[in-house]
Amino acid sequence: MEVAVATIHTKALAHNLAQVRRHAPNLPVMAMLKANAYGHGLLDAAHALASAEAFGVARLHEAVSLREAGFQHRIVLLEGFFDAKELALISTLSLDVVVHQRWQLEALEQVNELDKPIAVWLKIDSGMHRIGVEPEHASKYLARLQACLSVRADINLMTHFACADDLHNTMTQQQQANFEALYPTFAEHTFGGDISLANSAAIVAHSSSHQGWLRPGIMLYGASPMQLGVAADHQLQAVMTLTSKVIAVRDLAEGEPVGYGARWRTDKATRIAVVAMGYGDGYPRHAADGTPVVINGRRYPLAGRVSMDMLTVDVGNADINVGDAVELWGQQLPADEVARASDTIAYELFCGITRRVKYQYR
Ligand SMILES: *Cc1c(COP(=O)(O)O)cnc(C)c1O
Repeated sequence: MEVAVATIHTKALAHNLAQVRRHAPNLPVMAMLKANAYGHGLLDAAHALASAEAFGVARLHEAVSLREAGFQHRIVLLEGFFDAKELALISTLSLDVVVHQRWQLEALEQVNELDKPIAVWLKIDSGMHRIGVEPEHASKYLARLQACLSVRADINLMTHFACADDLHNTMTQQQQANFEALYPTFAEHTFGGDISLANSAAIVAHSSSHQGWLRPGIMLYGASPMQLGVAADHQLQAVMTLTSKVIAVRDLAEGEPVGYGARWRTDKATRIAVVAMGYGDGYPRHAADGTPVVINGRRYPLAGRVSMDMLTVDVGNADINVGDAVELWGQQLPADEVARASDTIAYELFCGITRRVKYQYR
């Protein structure tokens, strides 16, 4: 009996990419494939998203895998290089790099004998204060990059939003204004370079940021990019369906505890279904009692702590048997709901699927 399977619906990836284009027709799309395509499988996701104009990754080895598999797209290293020694390979493979720290600028100034100049995205810290160059230093960086023989003349400019998923937060407008204030400086220092602002949340909720390249991640994978609601609110389809099987059924009397720490107790005589799925598969250990679990197409509440290999569900008096089909999230149950009940986000659920889960691609 096959348990713990992640089915990846590649058609849903293509559908979700079409939704990105519906929000902002005619803009080029940099599909985010970082973290093994948010846990969906780097190369399979790349094939399904091959009509995107570029890919974004966070680690050099992911870009190398994409090139080895034959993808000729622009591939952007979102945090750039971590060591100047990587520049030779980056140039050979024609990868784009983000520059966000002075040492990276200096490394580009000092490097020589590259195959060809490297395409650079200067990252501006418009307010998130994670990575990026302060706006007041942008013109100095641009001038020095422009003078670099190792850097292509069509320098690009990008920034990232901290709160675009929250409609009540005005920080996105402020960040956008900080970024747009640099456009005159940018125009002086590039020859045909482009700009990029919008992640998924900005694509669905902040149309004024639809400029230059779009950078969708989570919406491609069919979860809601907004704090509230679910993916279907944005006509997005679930890409990953995580399933398993019932491996035991127990009939318990009133007042009996279930699972580690005896966190949950029956308040009447009831039936408990034990499912082969635990935090060892990537199901969140912090899932609260009541988190929905779908068995035979119906929702039932999680009851008791999630263990490494199993979880327990209160199925009342339903006719549930060993071998019955369980969906933890996917086409019948939005990952957004499970994430909220577990005090996390769908991104973390997807990235957290472990190696013992079998992937199948449809
Ligand atoms: C991950 C990432 C994105 C995509 O964010 P989503 O919220 O998944 O759409 C966009 N830009 C950068 C720089 C990122 O690191």
